[in-house]
Amino acid sequence: MNKVFNFSSGPAMLPAEVLSQAQQELCNWHGLGTSVMEISHRSKEFLEVVQTSERDLRELLNIPKNYKVLFCHGGARAQFAAVPMNLLGNHVRADYIDGGYWSHSAFTEAQKYCNPRIINVTYERDGLLAIKPMCEWALSSDSAYVHYCPNETIDGLAIDELPDFGERIVVADFSSTILSNSLEVSRFGVIYAGAQKNIGPAGLTLVIVREDLLGNASKALPSILDYSVLAKNDSMFNTPPTFAWYLSGLVFKWLKKQGGLEEMGKRNQAKAALLYRTIDESDFYQNTIATSNRSRVNVPFKLENNKLEALFLQQSQTAGLYALKGHRLVGGMRASLYNAMPLEGVQTLVDFMLEFIRCYG
Ligand code: PMP
Repeated sequence: MNKVFNFSSGPAMLPAEVLSQAQQELCNWHGLGTSVMEISHRSKEFLEVVQTSERDLRELLNIPKNYKVLFCHGGARAQFAAVPMNLLGNHVRADYIDGGYWSHSAFTEAQKYCNPRIINVTYERDGLLAIKPMCEWALSSDSAYVHYCPNETIDGLAIDELPDFGERIVVADFSSTILSNSLEVSRFGVIYAGAQKNIGPAGLTLVIVREDLLGNASKALPSILDYSVLAKNDSMFNTPPTFAWYLSGLVFKWLKKQGGLEEMGKRNQAKAALLYRTIDESDFYQNTIATSNRSRVNVPFKLENNKLEALFLQQSQTAGLYALKGHRLVGGMRASLYNAMPLEGVQTLVDFMLEFIRCYG
């Protein structure tokens, strides 16, 4: 098979080494004569996966001791409901920062459980979309927490500034950037992320929650979304998505072997810089996000002549550059450059883009 590079926004590319290890041990995992999918989640062999994966994740993200790590179901969207129902306590309000599609979706879901206040932080600067600095965010004084999304996967918009909101509890949807760079976990009350971009296969959702926030859940909260119940049961309140958990554990080991998150941050920065440079140096391609808020992992771009987009997508697919079609809401193209995408993949894309200009520019 010819080599292809998969730019899907999620489920996304996984490291080739991880897939090949999973393939090798699929039918006879750890000499058990069966696959990891077919054994009890409470067996001592699977508990080893559970413990090792949590230890590796804690090491990678340098997670402080007063945080619980929960391996959940339901994707990030389940967390849109779980967050208010776990954290509101006696409050009726929560602040929702609106930076794009996903943070707005979290706000919409929260309306079922409380009276969330939406705070728009985007504005136009020189014709480009930008985010106001955090010191200008008009936060309220009676909110249970502040929710935001540091990387809007569809819009290609990032908020890299770190929150410093005093006693306020900060909740962040890190679905598209978790593990793509080092992170100061202690700035947050809750961090959550669906697995299918930078962690492993779809089906697993990570929640990292500060311990003092446990125990405030609404009585109506389904137990399966209750952080205290999950923490008390070591994420084994019911049967967890064992295969996704196992594979994520292999990804954590792979990340450690690559040199950890600082190294991944450097590589992701280099990949994004190469692609943005190619876009900026031509009049043929356009990205409409202000430089300071450009996402390092989701790079949307359009062709100045949008009549050529279908041809671009068709020819890129033939050239082995997969899943470059932008989200249906924004159109154009989008290249997602998560950890598993090598620099070589981005270089191949850039070469294709320059050749496309030579043919049709
Ligand atoms: N938040 C962000 C930032 C996302 O990118 C996505 C998925 N693309 C979601 C939430 C929804 O995730 P899930 O499909 O796991 O519910």
